[in-house]
Amino acid sequence: MHYPYTLPELPYDFESLEPYISTLQLNLHYKKHHLAYVENLNKTLENEPSLHNVRLEDILKDLSTVPQSIRQQVINFGGGVYNHAFFWRCLHPSDTYRPSDAFAQAAIAQFGSIEQFKELFSKHANAVFGSGWTWLVLDEKKELKIVNTANQGCPLSEGLFPILCLDLWEHAYYMQYQNRRIEYIEQWWNVVNWHFVQQRYELGMHR
Ligand code: MN
Repeated sequence: MHYPYTLPELPYDFESLEPYISTLQLNLHYKKHHLAYVENLNKTLENEPSLHNVRLEDILKDLSTVPQSIRQQVINFGGGVYNHAFFWRCLHPSDTYRPSDAFAQAAIAQFGSIEQFKELFSKHANAVFGSGWTWLVLDEKKELKIVNTANQGCPLSEGLFPILCLDLWEHAYYMQYQNRRIEYIEQWWNVVNWHFVQQRYELGMHR
C-alpha cells in the first residue's frame, strides 16, 4: 500500500469475531481509530511527493528517507496504518485453524510448545505499560522472538519481520472489556488466524 492510503477491506464481517471481539468494539476500532490514522498519514504526506510512490512498508523500514520535519508523524500515523492493517489480518472468525507444519515446529523449538509460546506472548502483552503492541517476529537471524513496541512503533523499523500482533491500546478493547485487559488478551487467542501466521512465517523464512 502507498499514498493515498485507504482503509483496507476486512476479510470477515463485523459481527463474525463475536463474542471475543464485539461488533461494536470492532466497528469503532476500524471505522474510527484506524480511519483516523489513514487520514492523518495522508495529510502528513500530502506535500511530500517523493514518498507518494514508496510502499509504506519500505518507508517504515528506512525512516531515514523521511524528512525530519515529518518523521515523528510518519512513525505515529504510518505505524498506525501498517499495524492496524496487519492486525486485522491476524484475526479470523474460524477456530478450525491450528498451528501446523513449519511454523509449529519452529515455535516448539523456540518456546517449548505452542502453549508455552502463547503463555509467553500473553505475558509480554500483560507487561505493556500505556499504549502499545505485542508482536511475534522473525529477527535478523530468522529466529522467532516476542517483542513489544510502544505507541505505534512498528517492528519493521527495527529490522524485524512481523508474523503476529496484538493491539494493546485501550481503544482496542475498552468498549467491551473495560479495565479487564487480561481477559481481552486471553479471549483474543480464540480469533487468531493461525493460517495467516503460518503464511507469514513461510514468507519471512524465504524472503
Ligand atoms: Mn488500535
